[in-house]
Amino acid sequence: MALIVQKYGGTSVGTIERIRNVARRAIKTKEQGHSVIVVVSAMAGETDRLIGLAQQITDLPDEREYDVLVSTGEQVSVALLAITLHSMGNSAVSFLGHQIKIQTDSAFSKARILNIDSERIMNSLDHGTIVIVAGFQGVDEDNNITTLGRGGSDTTAVAVAAALNADVCEIYTDVDGVYTTDPNICSDARKLEKISYDEMLEMASLGAKVLQIRSVELAKKYNVSIHVRSSLSDNTGTIVTKEDEEMEKVMVSGVTYNQNEAKITILRVPDKPGVASKIFTPITEANINVDMIIQNTSTDGYADLTFTVPKADFKKALGIVQKTAKELNAVDVLSDPNIAKVSIVGAGMRSHAGVASKMFTVLANVGVNIMMISTSEIKISCVIDAKFTELAVRVLHETFELSKSDVSQE
Ligand code: ASP
Ligand code: MG
Repeated sequence: MALIVQKYGGTSVGTIERIRNVARRAIKTKEQGHSVIVVVSAMAGETDRLIGLAQQITDLPDEREYDVLVSTGEQVSVALLAITLHSMGNSAVSFLGHQIKIQTDSAFSKARILNIDSERIMNSLDHGTIVIVAGFQGVDEDNNITTLGRGGSDTTAVAVAAALNADVCEIYTDVDGVYTTDPNICSDARKLEKISYDEMLEMASLGAKVLQIRSVELAKKYNVSIHVRSSLSDNTGTIVTKEDEEMEKVMVSGVTYNQNEAKITILRVPDKPGVASKIFTPITEANINVDMIIQNTSTDGYADLTFTVPKADFKKALGIVQKTAKELNAVDVLSDPNIAKVSIVGAGMRSHAGVASKMFTVLANVGVNIMMISTSEIKISCVIDAKFTELAVRVLHETFELSKSDVSQE
């Protein structure tokens, strides 16, 4: 008998009929002899609707009240699921964050879980009850309601799994696993059987939207195995777990892309101490996250500096940089919102040489110019013209033999 945490996203609980489907799955798991904890998100679209209501009043709602508001979506879905389970003749109980002391810090709308009191959950499980936990929410030290950031129910599920030492944390979603790339671009993208925490972290931060990044960080820290799978089929999905030898043999596990960034270049800034700090401090103070940065070496005491920011903050960042550029007597500020970041990710890169040059060569062969490059131990990212995104993803997917046909040939 195992302890299984199942998390269902908004689409999986989007209608009463779908909630019935979730209930049937939980019951089936229970009938196989397991203890079941179900974590649910708000019904699809509900959190957006709540945010929209606040925005009709003000752009800057009070942070505490914002969390009181947006956490209500999950109160509805946990109750509906409990009622459904009862109607099917099962024992079930719902808990909100404060009822099982999902204690977080006080960073409203992006709180971090510090602790979960597992006692009340254990008691219910011991009585054979299916426990339903509201995702996305917690309470701080002073009993204020907090929320964990968009997509935060994933993190609730992993935290509950860690606190109760569950055997597995199943994340049910509308795709049936983690793919080698976006199947909308490559029709022969393949579902991965297994992926390491680090690879998943890179994939998630590079644009794959399957799991909230924080949930993967937490899973890695507490060694919780995550099974990403579809709520509409019985197929096995993708297991996110500790790196093993098999994973290390594969050079590249996935290709991701992100078109949500824009590029800014400052031409000819003095190459001396303090300049980068002058440029980036006001950007950071405006709460804008800078991603890639490159600065070329100067020969005559001047350098060009290029970096990327989220497209949503592009105008704001550009305004700030233009001001700084004047102060620094820079020659000009150039910008380009039509860029894409295409990346390859793979644990095997640690031990294989030549992956980067292979990537650059295939992009060159199809005439794609690389504007910026950044690397980590297990990923290589290139910024290119956005209009070449699909082409780049396809050739990389093919070059690194990620498609279905490549596997079946083995
Ligand atoms: N309901 C929240 C959101 O829409 C949390 C979640 O779905 O995981 O972001
Ligand atoms: Mg989600």
